[in-house]
Amino acid sequence: MRVPFGRSHRIGIVTDFAEHPTISGDRLKPIEAVIDPQPLLDSELLASLRRAADYWCGAIGDVIFGALPLAIRNGGALDGFVEEIWRVNVAGASARDAHTRRGGSAALLESLTDAALSASELDTLLPGWRAAARRLAAAGLIERVAPEARPPCVREGASPILTEEQTDALATLLSAGEGFHPFLLQGVTGSGKTEIYLRLAERALQQGRQTLWLVPEIGLVPQALRRLRARFDARIAVLHSNLAEGERARAWLDARSGAAAIVLGTRSAVFAPLPKPGLVIVDEEHDASYKQQEGFRYHARDFALMRAQSLGVPIVLGSATPSLETLTNVEAARYARVRLRRRVRTRAPSPVHVLDLRGLNLAHGLSPALLEALDACIAHGQQALVFKNRRGYAPVLLCHACGWHATCPNCEKPLTLYRGRRQLLCHHCGHSERAPDACPHCHAGALIPQGQGTERLEEALATRYPDVPVLRVDRESTRRRDAFAKLLGRLADGKPAILVGTQMLAKGHDLPNLTMVAIVGVDEGLHSVDFHAGERLAQLIVQVAGRAGRADKPGAVWLQTHEPGHPLLTTLLKGGYDAAAALQLGERLASGLPPFAHMALLRAESAQRNALDDFMAAARDALARPERGDGLRINGPFAAPMPLRAGRHRAQLLLESAQRPSLRHALAAWLPRLHALPQHRGLRWSIDIDPVDLY
Ligand code: ADP
Ligand code: ZN
Ligand code: ZN
Repeated sequence: MRVPFGRSHRIGIVTDFAEHPTISGDRLKPIEAVIDPQPLLDSELLASLRRAADYWCGAIGDVIFGALPLAIRNGGALDGFVEEIWRVNVAGASARDAHTRRGGSAALLESLTDAALSASELDTLLPGWRAAARRLAAAGLIERVAPEARPPCVREGASPILTEEQTDALATLLSAGEGFHPFLLQGVTGSGKTEIYLRLAERALQQGRQTLWLVPEIGLVPQALRRLRARFDARIAVLHSNLAEGERARAWLDARSGAAAIVLGTRSAVFAPLPKPGLVIVDEEHDASYKQQEGFRYHARDFALMRAQSLGVPIVLGSATPSLETLTNVEAARYARVRLRRRVRTRAPSPVHVLDLRGLNLAHGLSPALLEALDACIAHGQQALVFKNRRGYAPVLLCHACGWHATCPNCEKPLTLYRGRRQLLCHHCGHSERAPDACPHCHAGALIPQGQGTERLEEALATRYPDVPVLRVDRESTRRRDAFAKLLGRLADGKPAILVGTQMLAKGHDLPNLTMVAIVGVDEGLHSVDFHAGERLAQLIVQVAGRAGRADKPGAVWLQTHEPGHPLLTTLLKGGYDAAAALQLGERLASGLPPFAHMALLRAESAQRNALDDFMAAARDALARPERGDGLRINGPFAAPMPLRAGRHRAQLLLESAQRPSLRHALAAWLPRLHALPQHRGLRWSIDIDPVDLY
């Protein structure tokens, strides 16, 4: 509805009616216009959003509006969005067979031959497809059609025969029957988890019910969509941040009408309406990308659990490396665990070799033994992945003559050197400046890059292997929408190649000729101030290592470290992820940390140090004194691990309790007082419930 607001109007949502308004009648204003004759949100979604707002301390208005696609939020009428479907006609099919088209047009023809696709699907699979669509439509080869009301179905002959392990897993998952049943599906990469999701979605589809399928990041949507498309002839609504606003609204409405049998997307897809719910899948449930890190800081996996509960449907959390929270829920029998222990296509897991770096001469951070292994891999005509979780050329630029190093003027942290761009960049605030040729302090030309980023590794490897393509995959090299897909496409022919990359490479993508994985540096992860670091590192190593040897070729993993005796590494290598997770859980229990405690973190920042200190002191005073026996601990205020970022001072206050109710109780009293505190201009604060990092 549209309501008067001061001299203008605003779009609002009616959530309730009051029989006895608390505001007197003459101060109430009438609604100007009702935009949607039907309620936009069904009662389940509205109730779930209320619960989310309550749990993660959001304002209900922000939460509801955040859940709506922008085009609808701005007051677009629902019947203005008609789904846009494209398909090939007869002439197009023969044009494709005759290979008369190239490039984007050929790719579009190819995609549309297998199935008619919606604009949001095309946006996902072939970014920039519209130019080709105009050409092909003008040539009379493809056409836009109205959505069909055909019942969804499974394509014949598309399903493989399940392995014994998969058969058992599926039987267990299906035997739970109707209602809310949370499962953890734990299985290494390549063990066939996605195949299980597909079978479960198939069952839902046959019952005429919708499946909500979440993946942690946008790069994983296209391959999930391809697998769904290969299996089902059904309406699929795709929701992620790379859609045009109109397409996002259409996909959302497709979910809302129940026409979409499958709703696939990243974090925010968890807000999709599901009038005919059947199943929720959260792939890579451990991934921290599910946590929204600004504004309304919800966790999509946890909200998916809330929704599955209120929708009364099963939910499957899948991972090779489950989060400690989820493992604790399994331990407490709140979730049932189903395991897949073997890879579908290879027998043995790849052996991991630890390379002790102490005292060795390194070439750009690479040890002689690692280079030998790389030589052998390339000589065998296979592909290798060199993993380093650091972008740029080098994390520090140092003057050998006087000891000066480049620092960010806004954060006081070292600037990362990007040599190709001749730039120094701050990874914390985005500040950039030209890389100097000589030391700005002593004017000596003795600047040396310290440490290695992916750009430097790429350069070193390209010099060593001049005849082998060396491809770098990180946020810098894949900034263009389809760059990542193109890079991966270059590996598809299976010829020898070396991939150098950051954690973007850790997930999902199937690279059949990749037999060697080199993890170049993990030691930073062993010394973080954040208690999550150990869990993250174990997950990262297992996920990256899982890239090796997926197809019929055995793989090997090499891990370089200066601390081969670190308990986390030795436990992980000896006992695998389960042992490493148990070790971490033991430490968390001993220190009273999550999942054995619950946290709420107040973060505040301001350009004015005094304003920040005043606010934090007032925030501390606004907290009710802990009551005896409520187990509430108050830590701080203290400076954030990064005390200065982008020129703003940052501080934190941490509330902890072993019992969630006492934390919630304290928050309920505290939040209104926080909101009522005098606000210094330019001071920003937020509350983060169950923070996934402490920065
Ligand atoms: P995960 O999701 O655990 O990584 P996938 O379901 O993607 O595993 O399976 C790994 C590979 O094995 C995929 O290429 C998939 O198509 C294939 N696959 C899965 N299950 C089977 C099966 N039962 N028979 C043959 N191939 C399978
Ligand atoms: Zn100098
Ligand atoms: Zn900075």
